[in-house]
Amino acid sequence: MPIPKIDKEKCIGCGTCVSLCPLVFDLDEEGKAKVIMQTGADEKCDLKNVVESCPQEAISLEEK
Ligand code: SF4
Repeated sequence: MPIPKIDKEKCIGCGTCVSLCPLVFDLDEEGKAKVIMQTGADEKCDLKNVVESCPQEAISLEEK
């Protein structure tokens, strides 16, 4: 599974990524998205869809 990266300069903390994939994303203490990658995230999350759904284009995928 590719690893998502957040550009915190671009993120506005809208929470879309968190609602789409709560096992992968959470909001940090500043209200910006962060990557948490909990167990089971692989099957349950469509990362490409999340990347496309971010209004700020703040999420990129790093192939591993
Ligand atoms: Fe930030 Fe994009 Fe997630 Fe919204 S969807 S919280 S702008 S990374």
